[in-house]
Amino acid sequence: MRKKTSGKKTLSIKLKLTLWFTSFMVLTAALCLGLILLVSGRVAENEAFNILSLTARANLTEVSLEDGTLTISPDFQFYSNDVYFLIYNKNGAVLSGQAPPSFSPDAPLENGVSKFVSGTDGSADYYVLDFWIPSGWDDGLWLRGVLRSPDGRQMTGNIFTLFAIVLPFLILLAAAGGWLIARRALAPISRIADAAESISRGQDLSLRTGIPEGRDEVGRLAGSFDRMFARLEQSFEAEKQFTSDASHELRTPTAVILAQCSYAKKHGSTVEDYREAISVIHRQAEKMSLLISRLLDITRLDLGTQKLKRESADLSEMARILCEEQDTGARGISLETRIQDGVTGLFDPFLISRVIINLLDNARKYGRENGHIRLSLAAEEQEAVLTVEDDGIGIPPEEQDRIWQRFYQVNSSREGGSGLGLGLSMVRQIVDLHGGSISVESRPGEGSRFIVRLPL
Ligand code: ADP
Repeated sequence: MRKKTSGKKTLSIKLKLTLWFTSFMVLTAALCLGLILLVSGRVAENEAFNILSLTARANLTEVSLEDGTLTISPDFQFYSNDVYFLIYNKNGAVLSGQAPPSFSPDAPLENGVSKFVSGTDGSADYYVLDFWIPSGWDDGLWLRGVLRSPDGRQMTGNIFTLFAIVLPFLILLAAAGGWLIARRALAPISRIADAAESISRGQDLSLRTGIPEGRDEVGRLAGSFDRMFARLEQSFEAEKQFTSDASHELRTPTAVILAQCSYAKKHGSTVEDYREAISVIHRQAEKMSLLISRLLDITRLDLGTQKLKRESADLSEMARILCEEQDTGARGISLETRIQDGVTGLFDPFLISRVIINLLDNARKYGRENGHIRLSLAAEEQEAVLTVEDDGIGIPPEEQDRIWQRFYQVNSSREGGSGLGLGLSMVRQIVDLHGGSISVESRPGEGSRFIVRLPL
């Protein structure tokens, strides 16, 4: 169960929708009931007058007054289709026929007029239709048809009983339908809320709503939430990675510094001893500082906070300047360049210079003493192709896939402890961000060639 945030009682949306559906249903049913009662009353009345008129007209020719004598044919029916017939003389006295109980035969006679007459004891009402059958100039008969009106109260009662039976079912159906529809429509929102809640409790960051991103509002909301969750997960992962990488990699230089300090304190006696200890500490501190800045760079790239700042850059110019700045002479290594002029494109100049520096750095580190490094740059079709080649120790084929992994070093002893194993993973990340590719061709003992392709 979800906790309520305020003390104020609030109805859930599901309940509100269900209540709305149900009240709407009850209102509609009440309206229908009223309409049915109204219409059925009218229909019954019309029907009654119709029957009365037809039956009376059929009897009209079966009765006559001939020479002052009442003649009734055998086809005359005193009671037919629930209609009672009475025959009156011209003065309004009943000559023949039987009136239904509670009907007063004295009701005034009106030729051809149908009317509604109340019974004497209030138990029934009657529809009445009279016809004047003339005989000669001043004589004649009255024929009166009397039809007991259908019991209005009973009919209303029947309709009410029907509604009393059907209505509870209808209400139940409306409530259940409303509840189900509301639950279905709101299910995605519940899923979003559950995912958000579980993420905020820090349980599982890989959780997603799993709702396909549709065009409707809920689909769009779910899509936004999923993207936000993905971003959160990426941030947490990058932070976790940074913390574990930093704590793991800083342990060795920290241990070396501490060991050097306690050695110098215990055994250091000459200036030479202290100078040596300080230079070891200095080297380790430099390594730590480099490591931290590299890790921060990588974390920023992972997080996406270090965004590509693409600008129109002259790659040829950049490569030329960087080659001039690089100190390759230290191990007697010479640098040859073959740079095509005017290779320009939209790059992040700072990040691309990191690529070139890293590759040149590696070529120098793993290059042969007094060897050669060759850097070439050319535009091929829609790509800038940069290659950095050395004639150093090379990389065994089985290691060539792994050198791109973070902290991976082929054999740290052959590197003389100078590397961190972070350079190539960062290079690859930068090239990927630019939509390019990087590959290596290498033979142990002969040298390596790194090829970077960047779309122009
Ligand atoms: P590092 O800081 O160790 O140089 P990198 O990520 O730059 O880290 O390189 C990963 C590994 O790939 C290195 O440890 C090294 O063994 C190998 N490597 C990289 N460049 C070269 C190269 N030009 N020649 C031979 N091996 C190389």
